[in-house]
Amino acid sequence: MQLKISRSLFSLTEVRTVEVQADMGRYIDLSQLAFQFGGKSLSEWKKWTTGSNFNGDPFITIVEKPHFVGDTGVVKATLKFDLLFNRESLAERSIRTQYQQFIGSYELAMTDPQTKMKASATVQLNVYDEFLFYDELKPTIDQIFKQAHQKNNRYLKYQSLGKSIEGRDLHFVILAKSKAVVDRYLNITLPTALEQPEKLIHQLDNGLIGEYQVPIWFNNIHPDEIEGPDAQVELLRKFALEDKLTVPIVRNGQKETVSLDVNEMLDHVIFLFMFTNNPDGRAANSRRNANGFDLNRDNHLQTQPETIVVTQEIANWTPLSFLDMHGYISRFLIEPTTPPHNPNYEYDLLYNNMIRQARAMGEAGLGNSDFKSYVIPALDYKDGWDDMSVGYTPMYAMLHGSLGHTIEIPALSQDGFHAMVGIGLGAALFVQEKKDQLYKNQLEIFKRGVNGEDNRSVDPYLVNASRKSIGRIRGEHTNFFPDYYVIPIGSKQQVNKLEAYKMVQYLLRNGVKVEKLIDNTVVNGITYSKGTFVIPMKQAKRGVANAMLYKGDDVSDWKAMYDSTIVNFPDLRGFTVHEIRNTDAFNQNTIRIRSTGLPKGNIYTAATFHVLANTNNDTIKLVNILLKNGAVVEKALETRGLINKGDFIVRTNDLQHFGKNYYFIARYLYTSIPVKTMQLKQTKVSVIGSTQLKFAVSELGFDMVKQADADVIVSDSSSIIVSYLTGKTFVGIGFEPLKAVKSRGLLPGFNIDQTKNGHEGLVKAKIKNHLLTSGYQTDEVLYTTSGMWITSVPAGAEVLASLSNSNDFFIAGWWPGHENAKGQILAFTHSFNNTTFTLFANDLAFRAHTHNSYRFIANCIYDS
Ligand SMILES: [Zn+2]
Repeated sequence: MQLKISRSLFSLTEVRTVEVQADMGRYIDLSQLAFQFGGKSLSEWKKWTTGSNFNGDPFITIVEKPHFVGDTGVVKATLKFDLLFNRESLAERSIRTQYQQFIGSYELAMTDPQTKMKASATVQLNVYDEFLFYDELKPTIDQIFKQAHQKNNRYLKYQSLGKSIEGRDLHFVILAKSKAVVDRYLNITLPTALEQPEKLIHQLDNGLIGEYQVPIWFNNIHPDEIEGPDAQVELLRKFALEDKLTVPIVRNGQKETVSLDVNEMLDHVIFLFMFTNNPDGRAANSRRNANGFDLNRDNHLQTQPETIVVTQEIANWTPLSFLDMHGYISRFLIEPTTPPHNPNYEYDLLYNNMIRQARAMGEAGLGNSDFKSYVIPALDYKDGWDDMSVGYTPMYAMLHGSLGHTIEIPALSQDGFHAMVGIGLGAALFVQEKKDQLYKNQLEIFKRGVNGEDNRSVDPYLVNASRKSIGRIRGEHTNFFPDYYVIPIGSKQQVNKLEAYKMVQYLLRNGVKVEKLIDNTVVNGITYSKGTFVIPMKQAKRGVANAMLYKGDDVSDWKAMYDSTIVNFPDLRGFTVHEIRNTDAFNQNTIRIRSTGLPKGNIYTAATFHVLANTNNDTIKLVNILLKNGAVVEKALETRGLINKGDFIVRTNDLQHFGKNYYFIARYLYTSIPVKTMQLKQTKVSVIGSTQLKFAVSELGFDMVKQADADVIVSDSSSIIVSYLTGKTFVGIGFEPLKAVKSRGLLPGFNIDQTKNGHEGLVKAKIKNHLLTSGYQTDEVLYTTSGMWITSVPAGAEVLASLSNSNDFFIAGWWPGHENAKGQILAFTHSFNNTTFTLFANDLAFRAHTHNSYRFIANCIYDS
């Protein structure tokens, strides 16, 4: 029998009552009637108390007892669904991980045990009404498209930008007035803006620009901060289907409403919806992607497939306004941020408009919810909520001239959802109203780039911890930006051709203009061969290029820093870049390129053996492939002639079979091997600790086994099981394992000192000649985020690396107190009690960015 219900949707974040009724017959005993929800009696539904315990007060109560309606047999009652977790916001992490098990369909039933009569209805329980699981997103988008096509002729375009690690689509939707509007923006307006910004500025100033649209990009990257994707679906629904919207706002404490005409809006705006950058995280209710990476720390490093495709699309669109929808900070937070600011933004052209946009979003966020206030870190915080890192999605977008905002709603709730929808409406209204002025500033950003201008107006925004303006750090130069970056390709000039080519691919993908020399060219006494890559810095996207290629800044004077600030691809990926400061260096000698492949190794079939230099990660991958396929790989144990200690010697035949797709540098042997070698075996490796370390080791092609079965344990974890160490090599990387080895007294004579874990530095280091450091030079740049150094090593231990003793050993980063680390030991190896300990105080695989340090790990593994 059908149970009639006054509502069918229940909420984990809002109290709901429901009237139920059914014709049960005139003569039943009302006192015996019972209710069930999801097949369980109401008494079995108890509220959450702690942990995963649901043993509190009743979740569902009867507020109006069953009674007959008049003289009929119709029975009516009212039930109340209270807050299952005893609170409206489920943002608390211990709850956030477990509420989703309750979302779904339930049978709500009224039964009479005597007559066995049952009236029932299917109802839904959701966290808030609009929440969608990943699998519901696409059908909902399709449904909106279908309705829109019946209602109006707005242009709606769905694209899957690519696949996540687990193979889910990255849903992306374009909404505009028409296809022509999108084509004009992408094919005419944007290219003109990037190449001839002055032309468009002139048109704007003189009222000649005509109709034009600017993109607003809605984004979510932490999908367990759930409102982001759902608010976007709601905004898509409104903008695709409605003609007029009423937007409630709170301005100066007063509630008002503003009307929004969607057709007029679409005369000015193209909406872009990136529902979530992390589909696997949406499916798993997790912040991180399936590889365990926080993608909101990877937009600049781009080690993960999801960030690679999303950043490419951001570069492609160059949105004017960029909203990244997050939660849950206890106060409703809308950026812009505190200092320090990354010097590669044109901050003065962004700041005031970002403050205004933040206010417009805040007013509509409050208007559309019950939240009472919001904060803007730039105005309300001292430090610690900064945009020095360009790894957050909005900060990455700011390099493209976007007004980039992270928005943190304070609650995971129905109200949080409404606030986030308000945010989107507020931003749209703001962009519509201020479009000309906002666009002009974006054009001014591009103009500075195109003209190579280092405008001093940015300097007041770039302050030190005492709030004194330090501006861009220009050193001896008058322009912060060089005229060119050159990425040499000749083997004498380029230390790592593979990483160099990968950087060129990266720059092209990220909207940076790259050229190639068409003739050998001499600059500052150096001959650059034909084919050398040149990045002309007089270009609109020079901020993107410079943020990735420049040395970085020393921000150690700050008390707090939100996250890692070091990018520096050349030093961390390990390739050569030259900075050129000579405007005319390459006049007429270059052509623009749109793509490049990757280099491959040369196989010389007349040789018996190839000696592979141990100088890039592809070579390590190749060696691992050869070992897996049973090929003999010898490792040189000494340096003689052109063979270096640590090089790999392989048979030409094997290389022909397995080496065609790899990059390597080879020398050739025709008869025998003239140096002492050892034959490599397939080492059993166990990796303990971060998913990022595991990712890096598997990137190199090592297979992993359990600790007990391993020859070598590579760890960045504090957990050490001593019984597993006997007969093995233990490679400890960074703060946690070194601290553990020390505090548990596993290695007498070993001692450490530190400022604080998390203190980060790009440092000059001295590398000692050793089999474990083979392939590295005496002078290398290393990376640390452990704020630690080694103060003593056991007698007889071999030191592998130290921090340089020069006063300028610290290149960039946030490491208060780094002075104490000058000249100290970073790494050593020592055998004790039948275990070889190789300990690095610094990080070798940080966020899979520090490719240049990976070979230390490989050397340790091969030598175990
Ligand atoms: Zn977040």
